[in-house]
Amino acid sequence: MGVDWAEEPGCNKMKVLIVGAGLGGLTAAACLMKRGHEVVVLEQSPELGEVGAGIQLSANAVKVVDSLGLRDELDRAGVRPLAYEFRRFDTGEMLHRVPLNEDDTHERLHGTPYYHVHRRDLHRILADAVQGLDPGCIRLSARTVGFAETASGVSVVLEDGREFAGDVLVGADGIKSVIRRSIVGSDRPVYTGQAAWRVVVPAERLPAEVMRPVVTVWCGPRNHAVVYLLRAGTLLNFVGCHEREWEEESWTARRPWGELQQDYAGWHPEVQAIIAATERDQCFRWALNSRELRERWSTARATLLGDAIHPTLPYMAQGAVMAIEDAAVLARCLDGGEAIADALRRYERNRAPRTTRIVRESAEHGELFHITDAAEMRAAFIRKDIARSRREWLYCYEPLTVELP
Ligand SMILES: Cc1cc2nc3c(=O)[nH]c(=O)nc-3n(C[C@H](O)[C@H](O)[C@H](O)COP(=O)(O)OP(=O)(O)OC[C@H]3O[C@@H](n4cnc5c(N)ncnc54)[C@H](O)[C@@H]3O)c2cc1C
Repeated sequence: MGVDWAEEPGCNKMKVLIVGAGLGGLTAAACLMKRGHEVVVLEQSPELGEVGAGIQLSANAVKVVDSLGLRDELDRAGVRPLAYEFRRFDTGEMLHRVPLNEDDTHERLHGTPYYHVHRRDLHRILADAVQGLDPGCIRLSARTVGFAETASGVSVVLEDGREFAGDVLVGADGIKSVIRRSIVGSDRPVYTGQAAWRVVVPAERLPAEVMRPVVTVWCGPRNHAVVYLLRAGTLLNFVGCHEREWEEESWTARRPWGELQQDYAGWHPEVQAIIAATERDQCFRWALNSRELRERWSTARATLLGDAIHPTLPYMAQGAVMAIEDAAVLARCLDGGEAIADALRRYERNRAPRTTRIVRESAEHGELFHITDAAEMRAAFIRKDIARSRREWLYCYEPLTVELP
């Protein structure tokens, strides 16, 4: 079990160990290798892949994917929704609308289209890019159990006893991060009181009027549902977020179809049509967890990104987007020529205010989407003006060029 210590780092070339080959870890690997660093990605799973269904990508993430030369792939795999439509759960009343690709609004305002993509497709696109840069970069069945750091390097220990050494460690190992535990202490994920149904229905099982090329957010008492198209409109993605007692955490936990039907009884006929068309044994539901927000999440040689440090309720569709932004900003900071500890401090200093704001606002969106009284909900949507706020600070963020003081 030899330790593969990296050579002493030059000012810019480093060996970076990344724990986790999720969307965040893979994006970081590609960004770092594009900048000439050597990268090893350690992934616990025996094979590459993603569970789950749809993911929305706004310009603040698409620009990073684009910078990796993957825009054509995204165009092929993605769907371009026309708009966000927030509707009342039973009457279908439009409460608020955010134009996306309608009249190219998102691209005109923020520089790229807005995409929906199947998580598995995005994961494959990123993994292919990483393996194209270095075919041996991703090590599978590599479950990390801890790390140690000295003044001259960092080493990661795997469950099977293997060790990997490098100059910098990035914990991109998701909400249950073991790297986080070592850096910020042993806090635990906390159940938010909300759980998410995940259902994907083939288009041919659905009436045409349900297959509208928009993101519809159906908002109702203590519950909302997000519906959009995937894979050239051949699939419909349904995510239903319901307040309920403590839930099992797994993304792959199947639940009885009858519970799904019960959760949306009395909802709009379009929602009923989706539920009626859902395969009875393909209803997944999992707990949405959060973690304490932090301002600091690095040591002198190790840091965190994505859900490992700032998991969020998915109500602004920014969890993976933040992980992708983190990856680009971290790669830029590590290129600054300063000491690694200073680069990591600069990274977290620049990311913490934004990621904290997104996590907090996502939770507030949950409160807005779940208001019981229709008139109160209508007034709250007007006050919130989601279109304006997302335009003014969310989608316009530039991870590739924003100043990093
Ligand atoms: C219902 C729902 C809908 C969502 N919709 C959107 C959306 O539309 N847009 C959006 O931007 N975000 C969305 N998100 C959030 C998004 O899915 C996450 O924020 C994102 O996937 C986090 O990526 P990550 O790379 O940080 O972590 P993960 O995807 O969790 O990846 C972590 C990786 O680390 C590996 N790993 C873990 N522990 C170890 C270990 N000890 N050793 C080695 N490897 C390890 C795991 O196997 C995994 O591959 C949604 C989330 C939910 C729940």
